[in-house]
Amino acid sequence: MYLTGIKTYLNLKNNLTRPLDELKAEQWRTFKNMVSYAYQRVPFYRKLYDEAGFSPDQLRELSDLRLVPRTNKALFQEADPEELIAVDFKLSKLHRKRTSGSSGSPLNVYYTAEDRIYRTLIHLRILFHNGMTFRDKMVHISDSRNVPSFRYAFQKIGFLPKDFIYAADPGDQQLVQLARIKPAIIYSYASSMVLLSSEIEKFGNCPIHPKLVITTGELLNPDDRELINQAFCVKLRDIYGLVEMGDVAWQCPEINGYHLNIDSFLTEFLDNGEPVKAGQPGRLCITNLHSRAMPFIRFDVEDVLTAPHEEPCPCGCTFPRIDVLQGRADDWLYSADGKRISPLIFVIASIPGVQQYRMIQKALDLLIVEILPGPGFAEETLKRAVDHVVEVMGPGIRVEAVKVDSISQQAGKMRRVISEINHKS
Ligand SMILES: [Zn+2]
Repeated sequence: MYLTGIKTYLNLKNNLTRPLDELKAEQWRTFKNMVSYAYQRVPFYRKLYDEAGFSPDQLRELSDLRLVPRTNKALFQEADPEELIAVDFKLSKLHRKRTSGSSGSPLNVYYTAEDRIYRTLIHLRILFHNGMTFRDKMVHISDSRNVPSFRYAFQKIGFLPKDFIYAADPGDQQLVQLARIKPAIIYSYASSMVLLSSEIEKFGNCPIHPKLVITTGELLNPDDRELINQAFCVKLRDIYGLVEMGDVAWQCPEINGYHLNIDSFLTEFLDNGEPVKAGQPGRLCITNLHSRAMPFIRFDVEDVLTAPHEEPCPCGCTFPRIDVLQGRADDWLYSADGKRISPLIFVIASIPGVQQYRMIQKALDLLIVEILPGPGFAEETLKRAVDHVVEVMGPGIRVEAVKVDSISQQAGKMRRVISEINHKS
């Protein structure tokens, strides 16, 4: 198994610098194979394609991919899990992962041991490209759900050593643990790093000197990025991943956009089902090119990202880059007239006296801003937060800022925005 893993890794590493045309041709071939395979072997796709009158034979050139019916979480949830699995696999023999329920009810994702290794290798490729070595100790700040009960044998002999810290522990305790472990790499939700950065500010200086900080799982606000960079004296790298399929796009040492893993996924960026131009925002529709137990084909993720461009990156990687992750589906706010507003344009964290904040949209005309006070907090802080949010949101919405003692996390993540309205488009 290790030999296969090493061979797969070397191929994946080699892909980083292959000519883009070659990668795209391979991507299209793999996509067509996956669609045919799913039609032949997965009852869910057989039914879906038959009902839509689609046949895999119709796929001749790239633009034909739009003939393939799209899927989404709701369709998967309605289906019998057995029908989502290729007939060659037994549900009881597969690994299972539950996506978090923050955007509604959870979805069970089934995968093989090979899928798991592939995901790990894709992840390691990002870390190595960003300067990690085999001996670098990593700390994963995680909610308990993600702590694996197993360790690879090579970890027991000192390769890719990894420790875990619970994201739900108080910040000062996490900092003590970090100081004890002295990791070279920290991998964490952005919100956990923000919490730790505030602790470091209180402490006066950073007790550790990681060479790499990597965030994932949440939309990274520019203010937060700056705060973490300052506190840990690093230039953090962010990864855009999906629980359903692993790391999709990632930042390289240039920290200029996110490279898309086009050797593992076929991604589309759509507006009303039509592809948008490079640099324009579109909803992500994704095909996982390697999950054969439970295929995800043209799966609508609902996250909005800007469509990638193909300008060469000085890091040497030929994968196209996404400039901005505009918002996860759950992260959007709406103005009183229904216009979608990205949480990235708020600068509440820069207001003196704000340690942390969260915005809860109760209705199109009501928004609550929770403020966890930091040094320099005064009544004026709340007023400034309200003024700023009103200015961004526009007229017709009542904004109330409230001081809170803590901001609770959900599944280890601290979401900056909670939308209680059903107004997604
Ligand atoms: Zn790059």
